[in-house]
Amino acid sequence: MLTNRYSDQFADLGTNQYSTPLDKPRFYYVNQSLADHLGITTEQIESWLLMQEPHAGFAMKYTGHQFGHYNPDLGDGRGLLLGEWQTQDQSYDLHLKGSGLTPYSRMGDGRAVTRSTIREYLMGEFLSAIGVASTRSLGMASFSDAIQREQHEPAAVLLRTTATHIRFGHFEYLANTGRIDRLASLIDYVGHTLFKLETVTPELLLTLVIERTAKMIAKWQNYGFCHGVMNTDNMSIIGETFDFGPYAFMASFNPSHICNRTDQYGRYAFDQQPSIGLWNLQVLARALSVAPNAEIDAKSMTSQYVTVFNNSYVDTLQRRLGYELDNHPDLEVLLDTFHQVLAALRCDFNQFFALNQTDGIQAALEQSATLPASLKAKELTNRLKKLLDECPQIPAHGNPLWVPRNELIDEVITASNNSDWLAFKTLAEACAAPYAVDLKQIEWLNTGASGFSSPLSCSS
Ligand code: AMP
Ligand code: MG
Repeated sequence: MLTNRYSDQFADLGTNQYSTPLDKPRFYYVNQSLADHLGITTEQIESWLLMQEPHAGFAMKYTGHQFGHYNPDLGDGRGLLLGEWQTQDQSYDLHLKGSGLTPYSRMGDGRAVTRSTIREYLMGEFLSAIGVASTRSLGMASFSDAIQREQHEPAAVLLRTTATHIRFGHFEYLANTGRIDRLASLIDYVGHTLFKLETVTPELLLTLVIERTAKMIAKWQNYGFCHGVMNTDNMSIIGETFDFGPYAFMASFNPSHICNRTDQYGRYAFDQQPSIGLWNLQVLARALSVAPNAEIDAKSMTSQYVTVFNNSYVDTLQRRLGYELDNHPDLEVLLDTFHQVLAALRCDFNQFFALNQTDGIQAALEQSATLPASLKAKELTNRLKKLLDECPQIPAHGNPLWVPRNELIDEVITASNNSDWLAFKTLAEACAAPYAVDLKQIEWLNTGASGFSSPLSCSS
């Protein structure tokens, strides 16, 4: 059953809006297993995806900090909340991205290109499958209708699903426009419906958002995932990877890797992600502190964030490495040495863990290196091995033998431009079940290993 909880209760925080149909669908793909899980029929999904008639929806208003600067003019400029699909025990927002103009479209055309739609579809599936909280999609469709970017490109839509599309920016909007009653209502709504709280306070909500966000970013760091546009309007209130843009998995280890071409100063570089996560949470905290009776303590939120982040990071890393790290007396030295080794050898980040899984740490260090070992690197490697020898061994897991690199996704996009969708379908299936992939496919899936593809830019 499709409900309109959000648009009924927060009609003043957005606009009812119909999608604008597109002319000629050229390909569509339904995420059948997710559709089955939610109990939505293929016909229903097709009718949303094929864009042959207008669909009723709701464009949400929000604001946000983009690259550190407040922008009051944001909102769903090219997407619509179709409603919430209720299953027996959960609610799933259905959101059509690329659905046409809304009052928040600003200078944009309300559309999404096929290239970025393919990218969002694939990465949502992959991250969820490896245990990194993320939005997912029920399907995508590509159209002959051309839209103008740097060149003409085929339009597309994505049917995105998650428990909520509420962002940090929703709270910023209400706080910054002085709508204190509505801010209190939104806090209550999120606390009750998403965090299942009986009694909701702004500080309790903040604590829960900090926990989810810190865990999500720790996982990004664990897997070398670079989001690229961590603006507060792209931060989900339930701590899911959200609004995929120029993301990239890091190839050879370079902590200051920047995946977004427009991020000149590296605000969202790989090694900045944890501190930007905290910065964004501080923006959220400021917005929540405007709510009646809020008692938010900036110091304790920082220490909570750092503690949750560190624990989560070590928890996943030790399983990926196959060594129990958390009781090591010099854990900080061990982690620092580990990162220095990866940097000195420029190890291919995910290949290192894949080789560790299949052939052990020695092979991982030797075969994933993309630079010859210098004297310093050899010294560091020996020091790392000694430190690891002091830790009990545990079975290594959580190491996919491949990750969807941009080079691979580019190959799929190029094929799709020639109306060859087989590669997309193969990759879509592989991303949904990355550990179940046939060994014969791994070589193709590792296309472009050990090289950075050129950085991408923001919205497309
Ligand atoms: P993004 O960079 O995709 O997170 O988008 C930032 C803001 O710009 C959001 O308010 C989007 O809805 C809006 N936006 C991005 N692309 C378009 C577009 N093609 N047409 C209208 N609005 C857009
Ligand atoms: Mg966005």
